[in-house]
Amino acid sequence: MSTLLEVSGVSVTFDGFRAINNLSFRIGTAEMRAIIGPNGAGKTTFMDIVTGKTKPDEGRILWGEKSLSLRGMSEARIAREGVGRKFQKPTVFEDQTVHENLVMALRNKRGPFAVLFYKPTAKDLARVEVLAAEIGLEDALWRKSGELSHGQKQWLEIGMLLAQEPRLLLVDEPAAGMTPAEREHTTNILVEAAKTRAVVVVEHDMEFVRRLNCKVTVLHEGAVLAEGRLDHVTANQDVIDVYLGR
Ligand code: ADP
Repeated sequence: MSTLLEVSGVSVTFDGFRAINNLSFRIGTAEMRAIIGPNGAGKTTFMDIVTGKTKPDEGRILWGEKSLSLRGMSEARIAREGVGRKFQKPTVFEDQTVHENLVMALRNKRGPFAVLFYKPTAKDLARVEVLAAEIGLEDALWRKSGELSHGQKQWLEIGMLLAQEPRLLLVDEPAAGMTPAEREHTTNILVEAAKTRAVVVVEHDMEFVRRLNCKVTVLHEGAVLAEGRLDHVTANQDVIDVYLGR
């Protein structure tokens, strides 16, 4: 698998404190990756540097076949390059239907001026149907998003991100607050999405990480402490010590 994102030697300092400390790792083009680590390990800051929200002090962030440097690009440009981010809290438009939210996401893909004259094409409407099926909301298309369950809102937001056709989807604790059935559905959506793009999931819930059945990167003090299958990293003595606070 070829590399989509290569972070190398990246550091971020906040008021003299190194939140990311010489961090290096790679994500492949169609890869599912879970990032775990105790509070303060640097998981959020990692997502912030990839999306351009936080600028690193040093290091390289290279993207795609042409090894474009994401470092120094604006957040908007990085999003256009194909980096999508799902925050923990769903931010769907509650007074709009599922269908309207998905249409809006397709419209936004056309750029900031599309809002003035956009009318969904037949192709767009067909795409909405496909997206709704991908997130399991095909029977809820005409419901107001505000009436959806917490899990359904999360899936809708994932659908809205998929509408933008990201090459990398960063997802922050997707299973938080979900029922077991909702978690399973979320796993299925993400596993399916990772067949055609990279999906990076930051997660605390180890059972959820186990279900993702993917390579795991353990962050600690802003650097990679261990990497590999979940069973492998959770048997690592350094990882055990960090989680037990030793
Ligand atoms: P995680 O998401 O793994 O819990 P974070 O990336 O949020 O970790 O934070 C890593 C470290 O950087 C923490 O010690 C946190 O307090 C610190 N930190 C994060 N953002 C800031 C900021 N804007 N200013 C100062 N310190 C920060």
